[in-house]
Amino acid sequence: MFEIQVERSPQATAVVFENNQLSYHQLNQRANQLARHLRSLGIKPEVLVGIYLERSLEMVVGLLGILKAGGAYLPLDPAYPSEHLAYILEDSQISAIVTTQELVSSLPDRITHVVCLDSDWQVISENNQENLFSNTTLDNLIYTIYTSGSTGRSKGVMITHRGICNQITWRQTTFRLTQADKVLQNISLSFDPSVWQIFWPLCWGAQLIMARPGGNLDTRYLVELILQQQITVMALVPSMLRVLLDEKEIENCQSFRHITCGGEALPVELIQRFFAKLNLDDVLYNCYGPTEASIDATFWKCDRTSNYLIAPIGCAIANTQIYILNENLEPTAIGESGELHIGGVGLARGYLNRPDLTSEKFIPDPLSKKPEARLYKTGDLARYLDNGNIEFLGRLDNQIKLRGFRIELAEIEAILAQHASIQQTVVIPTEDNPGDQRLVAYIVPHREQTPTFDEVRHFLKQKLPNYMLPNSFVLLDALPLTPNGKVDRYALRASHQTIQQSKDIFVAPQDELELELTKIWEKVLGIQRISIKNNFFEMGGHSLLAVRLFAEIEKTLGNNLPLATLLQAPTIEELANILRQPGWVKPWSSLVPIQPKGSKPPFFLVHAVGGNILSYCDLARHLGLNQPVYGLQAQGLDGKTPPHTSIEDMAAQYIKEIRTVQPNGPYFLGGASFGGTVVFEMAQQLYAQGEKVALLSLLDSAGWNNLPTTFFDFVSGHLNNLAQLKPQEKLTYIWERLEWHISKRIPKPIRQVFYNLRDMDRSPQTLYTLNVLEANLHASKNYLPQVYPSHVTLFRAKLKSSRRYSDPLGGWGGLALEGVEVHEIPGDHTSILREPHVQVLAKKLKACLDEAERL
Ligand code: AMP
Repeated sequence: MFEIQVERSPQATAVVFENNQLSYHQLNQRANQLARHLRSLGIKPEVLVGIYLERSLEMVVGLLGILKAGGAYLPLDPAYPSEHLAYILEDSQISAIVTTQELVSSLPDRITHVVCLDSDWQVISENNQENLFSNTTLDNLIYTIYTSGSTGRSKGVMITHRGICNQITWRQTTFRLTQADKVLQNISLSFDPSVWQIFWPLCWGAQLIMARPGGNLDTRYLVELILQQQITVMALVPSMLRVLLDEKEIENCQSFRHITCGGEALPVELIQRFFAKLNLDDVLYNCYGPTEASIDATFWKCDRTSNYLIAPIGCAIANTQIYILNENLEPTAIGESGELHIGGVGLARGYLNRPDLTSEKFIPDPLSKKPEARLYKTGDLARYLDNGNIEFLGRLDNQIKLRGFRIELAEIEAILAQHASIQQTVVIPTEDNPGDQRLVAYIVPHREQTPTFDEVRHFLKQKLPNYMLPNSFVLLDALPLTPNGKVDRYALRASHQTIQQSKDIFVAPQDELELELTKIWEKVLGIQRISIKNNFFEMGGHSLLAVRLFAEIEKTLGNNLPLATLLQAPTIEELANILRQPGWVKPWSSLVPIQPKGSKPPFFLVHAVGGNILSYCDLARHLGLNQPVYGLQAQGLDGKTPPHTSIEDMAAQYIKEIRTVQPNGPYFLGGASFGGTVVFEMAQQLYAQGEKVALLSLLDSAGWNNLPTTFFDFVSGHLNNLAQLKPQEKLTYIWERLEWHISKRIPKPIRQVFYNLRDMDRSPQTLYTLNVLEANLHASKNYLPQVYPSHVTLFRAKLKSSRRYSDPLGGWGGLALEGVEVHEIPGDHTSILREPHVQVLAKKLKACLDEAERL
């Protein structure tokens, strides 16, 4: 019943897939040829044809060909396990499939007509290219999609043309697609938003941009595609939106005109993140609807100013009625919760070959005068709000949504129960980290027949799609029961911390790279002690966590790996082998996590003049385990990248790097000596960018250029200090000052000789350090600090390096508009960072960090 807009602009591009495309004319011609071929095989209205293809141009030709022949399609995802595929083919009793040669071998023999769009094209293309007469009516079937079923069997939802015509017409009248639009096709044909993604643009002459197979889960690829194609319309589930918004270049994706978010509850906090990252009004919509109601049944425009706790699902779409009814099928009062029922033209015909289930879920409409009117019982709990919007409150049963996938927990339990060693089982979802839901299967085995986890996992993998596989398994002697004898799911939830991950032998990391990777895996999976032999996916890893894992790998190791790498190399050991291949170099990063754990905002410490940040380790330790501390080391220490030669450039780069850990202020910054000057400039730049700096702490830094000095000041300052030191400290003091002045004043080759004489480390690193030192001194000399519009906190060493440090405000007085807060620390310029003085510094600094956080 669709009219594809061929006549309007036949040469215009209809579909784009990677570097290939089809014009409307070509698409129509090919679909006509295929339709004629299918008709010759007996395809007509009400006949289901399987479409077993990866996302491609052929997939669109296949869909249109089936519909033009008058048939209805049944999506078969090539990623389905063989038993699941076999079940759908058996249950639907289809006899024709459109596919490609490569996939044929995984199909059972009993399919009578297997049409390969590649190897059979020669024959297909002999058919006439002209349009065919269609005798399809609005009440004919357009597709059947299988969804999870509570009895252990998935069920086919039969949708008619009427529901989809209504859906697409509503979309067009509401969101108005034009020929300039580009719609991204990223959702699998097995999920119904794919239907509007494909047919809406084709009906209105817009462009359909197909994501590559697997690309729908790769947010980095999606961002690239959005930018490259300037996508205007897309759809995604909230858990995917969350990961997409974390992508580096997402802020640049400004081409969107419409985004449908749906499939699961949309957290308000995510809407706020959307506006913070994309700042696009009238674009994001929360759409709600079960497969049984022909895609979306309600919609709500996400609004940056509303103060809902839960994003509403809005109001009904055209020709659709929403009722919230109590157990007696009476409408509930406004604000009162009840089961959401849907009526209208979008209702499915029912479930394929399941009359009982159909009459259980599609009931006569108690509120309608028309005897044939029906309502679909969604099983969703909802309520009407005062303003007419509907609020989704959760489920009334054990159906869940996991990253947008609809799952009946009972289906997994029923399949598990088929395992010979399993006596009883319960599957429940857990969510230790927000947005990261996982499935845990609790299993009571038969006596003396305990299965291994690998056995159970392997058993399930044959029968269920990947998204339905439990992430963890727990063996129990018995399931906990409530006083009335039901399984106590709450007690199970509370016990899930005891999850056993695997019985595999633990193998520790063998080198630095494996250690790095292990740390990343532990962080992403939230599991301690991961063996390098453990499989990412078997430890609870899933596609969205894989995206996070690769983002962390890129951040830490600088490797931008395609997501698919994880499929070839799902263990730490295998991934490390790939990273070890020639050509891989760990890139330079100034940001170093010294102690990244803890719930407080991170504290960033910039290196002193030598460029290194090792001197901050004691300070980080004394600040405690709840205070994340990151160091910023100077560029050039690795000898590969040249050192920065201006404080301004240095500050700008460090800001970029700290934003990878903390994208927005308020920031907590610190720097010792020369590092104080750099953080002062960082604070200036952050301030100019509209960010707040909560604490700008200078550890015995001097506002250098503000403090005139003479040789007399220099000598008398040091003599004064020496007088205050214990005899054994005097020598160290002299040695350190000498070293410092040598490094500062003597030309580099002579300095090198001096270091060699002192038998210092002769490694190239020493040379790189000297280069950094020289560059920093140069940068410091040329830096002209401007007046900072806020205040600074100065931690002064009691022993001054020279008289010029004796200015009570360290030279910062005229530079900080709102003043300088001064704390005195026992020790001298360098020893304030060492034991025992560092303890005093840490204590005072901690108090300042706490205070700044409170304000
Ligand atoms: P499906 O048939 O896969 O589309 O899943 C339908 C179910 O997903 C609904 O019955 C709801 O439980 C849930 N769902 C769909 N959209 C939303 C939404 N926007 N907010 C909350 N839940 C949703």
